[in-house]
Amino acid sequence: MAKKDYYEVLGVDKNASQDEIKSAFRKLAKKYHPDINKEEGAEAKFKEIGEAYAVLSDENKRKQYDQFGSAAFENGAGGFSGFDGFQGFSGFDDFDFGSIFDDIMGSSFGFGGRRTAKNRPQKGSDSLVKVNLTFDEAVFGCSKDLKLDLDEECDKCGGKGGFDEKTCSTCNGRGRVVSQSQTIFGVIQQESVCPNCHGLGKTFEKTCNECKGNGHVVKNKTITVEIPAGVDSGSELRISGKGSKGYNGGPNGDIYIQFKVRDSELYQRDEYDVYLNLPITITDAVLGCKKEIPTLYGNLVIQIDAGTQSNTKLRIKGKGIESPKTKKKGDMYVVVNVMIPEKIDKTQKELFKDLSNTNLETNVEFKNLKKYI
Ligand SMILES: [Zn+2]
Ligand SMILES: [Zn+2]
Repeated sequence: MAKKDYYEVLGVDKNASQDEIKSAFRKLAKKYHPDINKEEGAEAKFKEIGEAYAVLSDENKRKQYDQFGSAAFENGAGGFSGFDGFQGFSGFDDFDFGSIFDDIMGSSFGFGGRRTAKNRPQKGSDSLVKVNLTFDEAVFGCSKDLKLDLDEECDKCGGKGGFDEKTCSTCNGRGRVVSQSQTIFGVIQQESVCPNCHGLGKTFEKTCNECKGNGHVVKNKTITVEIPAGVDSGSELRISGKGSKGYNGGPNGDIYIQFKVRDSELYQRDEYDVYLNLPITITDAVLGCKKEIPTLYGNLVIQIDAGTQSNTKLRIKGKGIESPKTKKKGDMYVVVNVMIPEKIDKTQKELFKDLSNTNLETNVEFKNLKKYI
């Protein structure tokens, strides 16, 4: 029989810390998860990784493994007599991998309660919803009705999965069965989840046809969500406990909302600051003027000083977007753009001609260039 070195299986050093073991397991489990990896042997490898992690992540088991590990491989099960609670290695169902996996990977990974004992409380699955918002909805917050498919308790059987409950005859209500099997350690006795009742200890005379015995059915539900002011494309909002129903008294799943915000016609957004392009005429730029501008919070009159150049940025403090976290508002920037008129009438042309006969080369840039020509 091939030797199985759990350190080798996880690719870690004999002195690896729990963090290193956890991280190695996480990487490998992701790679060989049978829902992801369809290659031949991936499932076997996945189990092997699970076994290795179950031992090495438990300091007691690890110590015993370090002490007796190799001897046990050579001498069969004898060396393992002291290994209480060490069963279930080949009975994968018994090993609570789902829970380890959920703890490490997050329950949204889709492991659900399918592979583990049915009577364990399980968090309902999380849902991800993508929501489109207009610029204003994102800036000021809004209320949105979201339609989504959620796992809910079956009304017909009240979430039990069937009718006319009776004690499971396979396990006599224990929910677990003991069997003997040949493993790498020789013949060992192992306890595993009862295959008949899946750990419930009870079966039903009649399985609920509405939920196929699952106790849960998928329902399309509408949920009203208050979206706070200030969200942006890429922001995520978690609505805790509003997702799919938990199993066996476990908490409900969460709803994660991802936003996609449409651009504004008027403003550009940079985090919580907003930018407004303000076109002004050449005479306004030269002579200075007052301009009424639209802000997120109503119109405002601002002063453009005489001699303002194109691309001048004027800052208006506190007129930006409110951060949903700090509740502080960013700033608004008005970017002045001096427009050269594309069409002028006869009178204007005469005026420009008169103007061109005066000295307008007063900027320092003109003088600098003159040095070279
Ligand atoms: Zn049973
Ligand atoms: Zn049902």
